[in-house]
Amino acid sequence: MAAEGHNVDANLVDMRPNHGHYFVKKTFGKPAYCHHCCDKIWGMLTTGYSCEMCNFVCHEKCLRTVVSYCSSVALQLIKNPVAHTWSAPCLIKRKYCCVCRKRTDDALSVECEVCEYYVHVDCSDLAVSDCKEAATYVANMESANTVQYHHMREGNLPKESKCIVCRKTCFSTECLAGMRCEWCGQTAHAVCYRQMDKECDFGVLRKIMLPPMCLTIPRTELPMEQLLNISSHDQPQSRKVSSPSKIQADDVSTSGEDVKEREDFEIIRVFDGNNSYRSQISRNIVVAKHVSVQQVRDAALRRFHINDTPERYYITQVVGEVEEEILEDPVPLRNVKRPEGKRAQIFIRYYDDPDKDEVKVYGGWLRKVPVTFCAISVSKDTVVQDLVTDALYHFGLDGSCWNRYNLIEVSLDRGVAERTCNPQENVLQLVRNLRKDSLRRYHVVRFYVQEKEDPHDHAVFVGNLPVSLAQRQYERILLKLLGAKEKPFTAIGPIYFEYGSLIITFNTPKAATAAVQKLQSAIYEEKKLIVLCLPNVQPQMIPKDVEPLLVLVNVKSGGCQGTELIQSFRKLLNPFQVFDVLNGGPLVGLYVFRNIPKYKILACGGDGTIGWVLQCLDIAKQDAACFSPPCGIVPLGTGNDLARVLRWGGGYTGEENPMDILKDVIEADTVKLDRWAVVFHEEERNQPTSSGNQTEMNEQTMNNPEDQTSMIIMNNYFGIGIDADVCLKFHNKRDANPEKFQSRLFNKTQYAKIGLQKMFFERTCKDLWKRIELEVDGRIIELPNIEGIVVLNLLSWGSGANPWGTSKEEGNFSKPTHYDGLLEVVGISDVSRLGLIQSKLAAGIRIAQGGSIRITTHEEWPVQVDGEPHIQPPGTITILKSALKAQMLKKAKKSRRGGATNATSLTHPHPETSESMSGPLGVPSTLGDPNHGKTTPDNTAADSDEEGDAFL
Ligand SMILES: [Zn+2]
Ligand SMILES: [Zn+2]
Ligand SMILES: [Zn+2]
Ligand SMILES: [Zn+2]
Ligand SMILES: [Zn+2]
Ligand SMILES: [Zn+2]
Repeated sequence: MAAEGHNVDANLVDMRPNHGHYFVKKTFGKPAYCHHCCDKIWGMLTTGYSCEMCNFVCHEKCLRTVVSYCSSVALQLIKNPVAHTWSAPCLIKRKYCCVCRKRTDDALSVECEVCEYYVHVDCSDLAVSDCKEAATYVANMESANTVQYHHMREGNLPKESKCIVCRKTCFSTECLAGMRCEWCGQTAHAVCYRQMDKECDFGVLRKIMLPPMCLTIPRTELPMEQLLNISSHDQPQSRKVSSPSKIQADDVSTSGEDVKEREDFEIIRVFDGNNSYRSQISRNIVVAKHVSVQQVRDAALRRFHINDTPERYYITQVVGEVEEEILEDPVPLRNVKRPEGKRAQIFIRYYDDPDKDEVKVYGGWLRKVPVTFCAISVSKDTVVQDLVTDALYHFGLDGSCWNRYNLIEVSLDRGVAERTCNPQENVLQLVRNLRKDSLRRYHVVRFYVQEKEDPHDHAVFVGNLPVSLAQRQYERILLKLLGAKEKPFTAIGPIYFEYGSLIITFNTPKAATAAVQKLQSAIYEEKKLIVLCLPNVQPQMIPKDVEPLLVLVNVKSGGCQGTELIQSFRKLLNPFQVFDVLNGGPLVGLYVFRNIPKYKILACGGDGTIGWVLQCLDIAKQDAACFSPPCGIVPLGTGNDLARVLRWGGGYTGEENPMDILKDVIEADTVKLDRWAVVFHEEERNQPTSSGNQTEMNEQTMNNPEDQTSMIIMNNYFGIGIDADVCLKFHNKRDANPEKFQSRLFNKTQYAKIGLQKMFFERTCKDLWKRIELEVDGRIIELPNIEGIVVLNLLSWGSGANPWGTSKEEGNFSKPTHYDGLLEVVGISDVSRLGLIQSKLAAGIRIAQGGSIRITTHEEWPVQVDGEPHIQPPGTITILKSALKAQMLKKAKKSRRGGATNATSLTHPHPETSESMSGPLGVPSTLGDPNHGKTTPDNTAADSDEEGDAFL
């Protein structure tokens, strides 16, 4: 499927009239809908036209104005083919196949991860490689004269779509109809869309869109999913099934064909070449038993979607392993051999001219040439370099410079696979071999002339190396893994020592590709390396009023919600601005965006992910053009206290429309966030005591084993004693059984269970108040009888509770905010009080407010920072204001789409929290000492909401 538009050139093939369709007049037995105008086909007999090849249906009156090309030719009409990135095969509901135009509900299908293309697995080899062209910069391009065109996609429009031209409804739930731009989302009727402006302004997301004309991607033979950093799910599945009718030889009865095998008809297996025969990939045709050779030939050509002069082809029958025999009239089928219980097998072949041929050479990737392709005559002696010389001449370029160009053989049907031809290859032989192997494939192969030199650097990210080595050591490891004596790369760095990852730069795409292919299978110290080929951003091409959004998604957060979100964001935005942080971490995206002077971040994940992003931002800062990009949050997983304070909600439910999230990001205000350094200093040298401690060290800390000091950056809160203990038990349970802990509700009940256990059986944190010393701003604080201390930067803790008990100025304490340079210190009397606080039924005991906290311990204590717990050996814990301040995005107060899902979650008293948490831990009989703290109404979030303006 493709329709008239910017990336389609009707002159690329000689085509039948009617946009390549084989229209036949048809009377429909049931209600039918016109694929052109979306309307029902009315009338007593419901007569209309239907294409025999692609099932396109339309009114008689609509025939004249059809704009959709037939699937049989669409693939060959694309000017600049871009491969789709297929999902794993699955059942896709309520969509239509872009090739056969039938529902996807009834057969295994795949969808593109970055655009709205859906196709049956069985139809996927006829899919049109016209994915969003997301990186279109070429050297010397100037932003003033670059134009973005709409990229219209037919069918599968969102419900309630309206036509931008005639304002009437233009979607259909009955057939593949209507047009939608992949970039701006504008929708229109197929009848109307040619009246739209040609230029695309990216629509409502313009302000955060990374425009394709500011991006280059390395010209390599690497598949698109690798360039897009989409982890492949045994990708080629859809490609292995490379032909629709690969059936067992003796599978005569269940053919799946519409036409039943009647007595005077016969089903014949057709092979389009030796390769297809070897792999037994055939397609079936149904023909009358007495047909002529010509009829068999034409049916076979149609079945293989070969759109060419039929007289150039002939039919043979398979006689033996290597023998074939030409079929002749009259009644050619009479003498065809039919092995016991099997169907007749025939070949469709091409009459080759032994002396000459004509080859089309495309200039598409040179971009500056005036024509898309030229047809060149070749003789017996023509070699590839002659062909390149002639083509350059035709394109108006200097033919004598042929050695600066490559001839690339591009196959459009395998996700745009490429091969660089050898300059000495014989061209006639080359095309003859292609035809002999598979005629269908020959018709979707193109030869492109491409400049060898690529003026851009090719950056490759390598992750999962050991941490904290010296540059020399990293170089040595890379050389060894690449099997090279000398550096094949031109530069190394930046090196992210604390994460064991780095960037290496190559000056040719070939060197980069070779390195990626070697490194991606490499294992170092039992870890598989993460290797990514990165796009290049040309910041001068970004319009002044655009602040592209860097989207960082933790796909594992919150069950599979991260996976759905990342796919939506890739479709709505430029897929190159969306990154999966589990594949290389936030540093990959931050590196790609390093030259952009102004941009924003959207971090999607739990508190841990947000902390990770902020931490990486601190590291990437040094060589970035934008020092402090403001960061918005989509809260996945549990906790999400920072997200609550910034109005992004307590947890993504999967119901919010990803488009609305992006609109909220555009409208969000920028606010400051204090960040704190928690410095742990151990009293004396001893081993880390628990596994919790070790993972903490690996992931989050910059530890210095020499002096037993480590530091963790804190964004939300710190806890010691009872709350950290519950948190630690929860983490240990989760690490043992990660699959059980996918739902937010389950997690909360687990928390409650652990709390109960503590209440009745263990009181490990008893007498904490006698066993530690607390100093705030240099003053020793006398502690009341408590089992835990919580230090707050935010007024949201443990999924939205407020242990401080107020968000206003009260008594000796000033109004607490997340940017005032002060921390609030709260005491927790026991585990039942902890439960009440978490259920938002009570507050803790206000102890102090200050800018520097010091805790001295004499034995091991459970501690936690932002929900990440560990056991801390005796020593001192100091919390100091960090020099690192973050800019955050705070969702604007009034949602434009008033009463939208997010707005309601703020006024309702956190349904998911109350139902699970007021259970076991909030048992009324365990109400604590009434003198301690005060109970707060269940509206802490709404409370802080009221004061929104103060955060500015
Ligand atoms: Zn119509
Ligand atoms: Zn058609
Ligand atoms: Zn299909
Ligand atoms: Zn696509
Ligand atoms: Zn558009
Ligand atoms: Zn319209």
